[in-house]
Amino acid sequence: VRVIGVDLGGTNVRAAPVSEAGVLCGPRIEIPSKAREGAAACIGAVCDAILSASRGQGASAVGIAIPGHIDADSGKVLWAPNFGETVNGEFIHRRDIPFSGPVSEAVGMPVFIGNDANLAAIGEYRFGSGKGTASCLVLLTLGTGIGSGVVLGRPAHSEVLVGHLGGAVEFGHHIIVDGGELCGCGARGCFEAYCGTAGLLRLASELGAQTPKALANLAENGDAGAQEAWRRYGHYLGIGIGNAVNIFAPEVVAIGGQISKAAKWFLPEALRVAESNSIGSIWAGVRVVVAEELEDAGILGAAALALGAAR
Ligand SMILES: [Zn+2]
Repeated sequence: VRVIGVDLGGTNVRAAPVSEAGVLCGPRIEIPSKAREGAAACIGAVCDAILSASRGQGASAVGIAIPGHIDADSGKVLWAPNFGETVNGEFIHRRDIPFSGPVSEAVGMPVFIGNDANLAAIGEYRFGSGKGTASCLVLLTLGTGIGSGVVLGRPAHSEVLVGHLGGAVEFGHHIIVDGGELCGCGARGCFEAYCGTAGLLRLASELGAQTPKALANLAENGDAGAQEAWRRYGHYLGIGIGNAVNIFAPEVVAIGGQISKAAKWFLPEALRVAESNSIGSIWAGVRVVVAEELEDAGILGAAALALGAAR
């Protein structure tokens, strides 16, 4: 059985054929997603990527990871923050976009959609640090925003916690500082406002680093200010991890996203804070690791969704 896994982002859409064992087994296609040029253009780009990736592969289904609030049952994108179009100079968010139906019609295969962070958690659970067997895995992806997903392991199958209408788990918007920094969601003190890229760079604003990678390079070159900024970042991350541990009692907490590549500079402090903030007997059962599928978790999780449906 082969399926096409698709990771739809605000800039690019990536698609690849994936085997039942979770191995990318063909060309990885990456093209502009036209996310801000309206629904028809974006769906057209997704279909182009699927048709290129599936040529000669004998794929039987498609899974698509989409950043936003996804209603998998109706196949609609209810809300997606980076998707819409500019009308008379004003950016209009599109809501309630029928998605899987039009794509399925165009590519001639059944199409299944889900939230990108939830599907990345499934990808990491099945094909990464969850090994397909962990009783509960929490994935936190650290980037511009914070993606999060919780997978509950079961003997026969696993399932991702989706909540009512597919809205769970928005862990990036749980509040860690009352009245704290303003978050993109409009609230103050969210985890994302401290542990997303903007929060990280704010901790080091006097150093002039424009990206997490630049800040990691400074730390690597012995800059004490940069190393201290990473340690303070670890402090906030540790608060979030400790909260996740107490709420979900996970077997694995996987830290993904581009910022996780600098884990050596923040993870020791994050673990110290998480341990001191969480219940000892729960903490004792947790493994906190850097995610194994840093680049392809979205594609793999989307593929897992399609494989589950294709069987
Ligand atoms: Zn928020």
